Amino acid sequence: MRTIVFSSQAYDRDSFLGANPTFDLHFQQVRLTLDTSALASGFDVVCAFINDDLSAPVLERLAAGGTRLIALRSAGYNHVDLVTAKRLGLTVARVPAYSPHAVAEHAVALILALNRRLHRAYNRTREGDFSLHGLTGFDLVGKTVGVVGTGKIGATFARIMAGFGCGLLAYDPNRNPSVEALGGLYVELPELLTNSDIISLHCPLNDATRHLINAESLGRMKPGTMLINTGRGALVDTPALIEALKCGQLGYLGLDVYEEEANLFFEDRSDLPLQDDVLARLLTFPNVIITAHQAFLTREALAAIARTTLDNITAWAAGRSCNQVEA
Ligand code: NAD
Repeated sequence: MRTIVFSSQAYDRDSFLGANPTFDLHFQQVRLTLDTSALASGFDVVCAFINDDLSAPVLERLAAGGTRLIALRSAGYNHVDLVTAKRLGLTVARVPAYSPHAVAEHAVALILALNRRLHRAYNRTREGDFSLHGLTGFDLVGKTVGVVGTGKIGATFARIMAGFGCGLLAYDPNRNPSVEALGGLYVELPELLTNSDIISLHCPLNDATRHLINAESLGRMKPGTMLINTGRGALVDTPALIEALKCGQLGYLGLDVYEEEANLFFEDRSDLPLQDDVLARLLTFPNVIITAHQAFLTREALAAIARTTLDNITAWAAGRSCNQVEA
């Protein structure tokens, strides 16, 4: 199976070649877009990541060029036009789980860094400033953590936070007994928003969850709440976050994902002026930490992504089930 791997970085190449050095893989660092889709001509399989464009016009070009399988290196598939893929006879496969620990632990890293202001302390001591003003944090023990989405990642996150001695509120249309076993209490979303000190988003992006966090939901939160989003950027209305930060309603914000990340993340743009004014404003707040969609980035997760993706391609080629997603 000739496979072209879009948006591939050195760490992708290492993990895929480590998983199977004999696979016919062609690595492309560029993102898949309408402009770059011609590169896939003649490839049976297009291997894509989260910020690759898999909208109808791109899928039509891929199908016309002979592609028959879209092998996603992600669990999320909100960026794929599944209806068009089906119409064109394109199979879409994904990696349903690789390491819930990677993402859950990154959410916890954001909480700890924001709370104890590690980003500020790091810069301060390097400048020879050993003062402590403005670095006061809070004990996590006894605080209430609201977990929105208690699937694989949310449940792993809940277990870690229970270990800190936090109380757990959960919101998910499907209850997870492992979260209830930790003492997690399932409530409706407004109750979770009103009573949590820290809120972390772990639900998929779909029509029901787009801008789940908006001006109204931010208004329900306790003043000074910490919000963490390692799910998908469009779960939150970003301009509304800025307003909530300006008035102190939001006390801390940790983002690993951003609604407009596709043209920014995974590239070194440090020599270029930042054109995104919303992101630029967010980056001015001392109580905001943004990471560029790196929550998945552990050795274990990369190895599992490579292994499952290659297994999916092999299974599809043999006519077996391949973690297919359908409209
Ligand atoms: P999962 O399918 O195991 O769990 C998702 C949970 O969300 C399910 O329990 C589901 O019932 C629940 N849910 C669905 N609709 C909901 C709603 N309206 N409100 C609340 N909960 C709802 O998925 P997972 O593996 O835990 O991943 C969760 C999300 O994390 C993914 O969809 C993806 O967007 C994101 N993710 C981010 C990264 C990263 O690097 N930042 C990596 C992997 C996954």
